Amino acid sequence: MNDSLLHLYELQKVDRHLDELIDSRGELPDRVNELRRQVEDQREQVEQVRRDRHDIETRSRELSAEVLDLREKVDRYKAQQFDVKTTREYDAITFQLEDAQRRLHTNTEAVGRMGIELEQFKMDEGQMATDFADMERELDESETALTEVLAGTEEEEKELLARREELAKQIQPYYMTIYNRVRPAKNGIAVVAIKNGVCGGCFNAVPRQLALELRKGEKHAVCEYCGRIIVGEPIAIAVDGEPEPVTYEVESEEENSDL
Ligand SMILES: [Zn+2]
Repeated sequence: MNDSLLHLYELQKVDRHLDELIDSRGELPDRVNELRRQVEDQREQVEQVRRDRHDIETRSRELSAEVLDLREKVDRYKAQQFDVKTTREYDAITFQLEDAQRRLHTNTEAVGRMGIELEQFKMDEGQMATDFADMERELDESETALTEVLAGTEEEEKELLARREELAKQIQPYYMTIYNRVRPAKNGIAVVAIKNGVCGGCFNAVPRQLALELRKGEKHAVCEYCGRIIVGEPIAIAVDGEPEPVTYEVESEEENSDL
């Protein structure tokens, strides 16, 4: 068997594994970052609603105090109307009374409106706080998963990289050159095995003569359709082991009987 081809086939397997490993991290860090951003946005929104509610409460308290004050004034002016000595005094008191009544009316309406607004704010705030708690929990879970993924793959990555280095040393530069050129262009797969007479990469038929030549595992072929390096079955078996026989699950008679 051609050792260089054997190592090349295994290198492909190792690199595929490394690609998958990096892919598995690829989405999670992005997801965690996205969630962190969302949680921060939500936190700011909750705080803004809280500030707005406090402002309305403060304003409402001020207006309510004014309402009490104005009520007293209205009562006082009404009492004073009976004590006046001149028409001029009466007109002046009436003017003040009417002004106080007008302001009392405006403020009372405003306090009522604020009460409705406050109820809405409290409901929004409650909903936002619930959403915020959900988002924080999701972030927490994703962060834990990311930590686990990183911890669980770091060791594996190190082992794969060490194996990769070992293999690369034992492969003819000629193969490495083709490998390095084809891999990026072919979705990370530059070396495939022939399977039932077809290229394992693009599933186009390998010419009969080439297929025969691949049988001993001494030679390689280059797929005329996808340009990948094709190795013979003995090499694939040496690296991957015997292919698993295809089995179909057969429903038992017993399971079918109650249908
Ligand atoms: Zn092909």
